[in-house]
Amino acid sequence: MRTAIIGAGIAGLAAAVRLAVQGHQVEVFEAAEGPGGKLSEFSLGDYRFDLGPSLFTMPQYVDELFELAGENPKDYFSYERLPVVCHYFWEDGTRIHAHAAKEEFAEEVENVLDIPASRVLQMLSDAERKYQISGRTFLEKSLHKLSTWTNLEVLKAMLKIPQLDLFRSMDAVHRRELQHPKLVQLFNRFATYNGSNPYKAPGLLTIIPHFEHHFGAFLPEGGMYSISQSVYELARRQGVKFHFNTKVDEILVDNGAATGVRSGDKEQPFDQVVSNMDVFFTYRELLPQQRQPERILAQQKSTSALIFYWGIKKTFPELNCHNILFSEDYPAEFAAMERGEMYEDPTVYINKTSHLVPGDAPEGCENWFVMINAPCDAGQDWELLQQQTRQRTIAKINNILGEDIEPLIEEEWIMTPPVIQTKTGSHLGSLYGTSSNSKMAAFMRHPNFSHRISNLFFVGGSVHPGGGIPLCLLSAKIMSEMVMDSH
Ligand SMILES: Cc1cc2nc3c(=O)[nH]c(=O)nc-3n(C[C@H](O)[C@H](O)[C@H](O)COP(=O)(O)OP(=O)(O)OC[C@H]3O[C@@H](n4cnc5c(N)ncnc54)[C@H](O)[C@@H]3O)c2cc1C
Repeated sequence: MRTAIIGAGIAGLAAAVRLAVQGHQVEVFEAAEGPGGKLSEFSLGDYRFDLGPSLFTMPQYVDELFELAGENPKDYFSYERLPVVCHYFWEDGTRIHAHAAKEEFAEEVENVLDIPASRVLQMLSDAERKYQISGRTFLEKSLHKLSTWTNLEVLKAMLKIPQLDLFRSMDAVHRRELQHPKLVQLFNRFATYNGSNPYKAPGLLTIIPHFEHHFGAFLPEGGMYSISQSVYELARRQGVKFHFNTKVDEILVDNGAATGVRSGDKEQPFDQVVSNMDVFFTYRELLPQQRQPERILAQQKSTSALIFYWGIKKTFPELNCHNILFSEDYPAEFAAMERGEMYEDPTVYINKTSHLVPGDAPEGCENWFVMINAPCDAGQDWELLQQQTRQRTIAKINNILGEDIEPLIEEEWIMTPPVIQTKTGSHLGSLYGTSSNSKMAAFMRHPNFSHRISNLFFVGGSVHPGGGIPLCLLSAKIMSEMVMDSH
């Protein structure tokens, strides 16, 4: 069986490994010069930066790929668990260090905000319960196959849907359970893990902190890029053939079946095709003659971002690997994004890896990845928004850290939503495909197969089960199981 994969993002790489292990002859076509897609790296002077993802959860899904191939993951891919997952800062001087261990985190909240530790512990235990009910159903199975809905485990999960807070917003659940405005804001922030709005997204998303405080947050040795690099090397050891700098221009379809790919004027026959490209562009650019799933393609996208990659010639010990500097008015910030605007007092996320990954910055310096949530590209004046946001971001950091950081920025590159689209092929620059703002979002994503074209499959952040590294890895798993069943 010959299989073409379009795109070497993390889901395309995982799909390549899984299908190669099943015995397929796999060829991956990637428009860029190397693997990784959003999970790539680059350098500015002596500083190394990961391009996109900075938070790594559920490393077991990566390990599983090595194990499937009969290898010991530890021989090729190492990572360490972060003892503190995030430092939270407010402008009034409040600081919370979110320890990975639930009890320590709850104790810190009790000490800083003067509310009982039990509130945090109860919230995390509710998250665990919701995950136990829904995780395997919504995330690890296709929601578009009859066999899923006739499965006993799934039927049991469906009976428990009323316990999942699907019909309340995430914010409403947090206000009910946590009550303190700062704690509500801290937990609402987890909606941004898949680019959603906590004031609209269903309460089911309150499961997200469970990933961080139960399974843990990790940093791979060598930085985030080593995730895609190690899976790429594993795929090569499994005999997968990669064609870089090779943009696919068409998926060949004959008699309702995918029969190969065309790149330039070169047509290559394959028994099946897997697209790891954003589903919007897969239809619009590679399948323009085929019927388009317009309702799916028109769904609201997840948020995008304005990212400042800064080489900072100083170290800031008060900053952890992950840091959040909160805005004073979180509802107003999300309301502005819904209107397609950048908010005047943005929440600032700072990630740095240089204190953990030797060589990511010169001695005495730090590599800052500074990300501000942004609306998707709708033709805004990004040049202007980028300048304004840069000033506001620096002012906020200065205020919280008590030091003028502008003169410390010795390297800089900025990524706006249109640049995210150009560089990674993500429609409108969305970070995580479609948003999870609707309670039906999980059911509305494009399936991992085509209803109309046989032998055509889909993986990656823009299709089921959604964006983010763990879900992209699960999309490859669901797809490969489907392929195996179909043969
Ligand atoms: C700034 C940012 C921060 C993020 N932070 C996190 C985080 O902290 N944690 C997390 O888990 N996730 C995070 N994400 C989301 C995560 O990066 C994505 O969900 C995931 O990497 C998407 O992987 P993918 O497999 O869908 O493919 P992508 O990475 O989207 O790659 C698709 C590939 O297809 C290629 N391609 C496109 N068109 C063609 C064509 N016609 N022919 C050939 N090749 C083509 C592209 O060049 C690209 O390499 C972040 C994303 C961004 C952008």
